[in-house]
Amino acid sequence: MKYCTKCAMPDTRPRLTFDENGICSACQWSEEKNISIDWDKREAELIELCNTIRGKNKFDCLVPASGGKDSTYVAHKMKHTHNLNVLTVTITPPLETDLIQENMKSFLNKGYDNIKITPNPLIMKTINRIGFIEQGRPLLGWTSCLNTAMLQIATSMNVPLIMFGEEGESEYGGSNRLRYKPFYTIDDATELYTYGNDPAQYSKYFPANELVMWTFPTQEILQKHPVNIGHWSYFENWDPYNNFVFARDNYNMKPRRTRSIGTYTNYGQLDTPLYDLHAYMMYLKFGFGRCTQDACIDIRGGRISRKEAVKLIAKYDGESIDKYIPDYCDYFEMDIKEFEQIIDKHANKTLLKKQNGKWIPLK
Ligand SMILES: [Zn+2]
Repeated sequence: MKYCTKCAMPDTRPRLTFDENGICSACQWSEEKNISIDWDKREAELIELCNTIRGKNKFDCLVPASGGKDSTYVAHKMKHTHNLNVLTVTITPPLETDLIQENMKSFLNKGYDNIKITPNPLIMKTINRIGFIEQGRPLLGWTSCLNTAMLQIATSMNVPLIMFGEEGESEYGGSNRLRYKPFYTIDDATELYTYGNDPAQYSKYFPANELVMWTFPTQEILQKHPVNIGHWSYFENWDPYNNFVFARDNYNMKPRRTRSIGTYTNYGQLDTPLYDLHAYMMYLKFGFGRCTQDACIDIRGGRISRKEAVKLIAKYDGESIDKYIPDYCDYFEMDIKEFEQIIDKHANKTLLKKQNGKWIPLK
């Protein structure tokens, strides 16, 4: 594996590129954000957009919200800085934690409208299960739905703007195509955020009309009810840690009492223990885990050095998810043997080896 010389991201991250100095695309973007992006100009673009949509419909803006740090921050900015009538929409995560529900309550109590959708849990489980078995993506049903269902709600309720948090590809290393674009298309979403998964493939399990929450609105509907889909990170220099501090101080958001599995932080991805499995699968497939991801963000944010990051990564990356395995088996309706076979199937044997029942780096 080749590692970025600035952060510690390896070249196994899908779509990550490196320049001639061995600096990864996320670090190049981080530098560009701090030096040459004209944030005043981007903010002016947003102000102009808000001026054109404000007050024309029941709601001006849909913010996908979970009770987490990022959506709390974005919803706050759209409502209080840009004076839009904000509708927050939540897609119930599978195995939703008490902590995220408590945080969502604290957030809503500060004055937000919210629609909470619970897409058919049987279909959700089936897609998550297929995602886990076939692609090593145990949250495939939920993450796909976060894109499709938001658009279904926006078009149904005539909301002209959806504002997500960060454009993960630009921010954390991946495709660069959305760095300079305020909005993105369904084709972008299908390729980058739902991994090319087409709900039509599930029609052998469920009738098409039951898959509406996993299906993008038709072009005909989108022409009738146009929606701009954007990311807040286009309009402001994004740093997830700052969002956490803001949500904690202004919305009483609570982090976990202890650090999350596989990392040293305790404030990100609090929605479901299936995220811990998702992050573990990333470690198995690409040889880097949740700690690498967090440490690279903190290096770019200037909070830790690369040397400190490397130590943290050695300590926490790929940490065992054993404590949740009974919950995972219960959710996916499989026994532990089948669960372990799936884990082993997805482990990248050119990067990892199994020793005493654990997948550890080869070197
Ligand atoms: Zn880097």
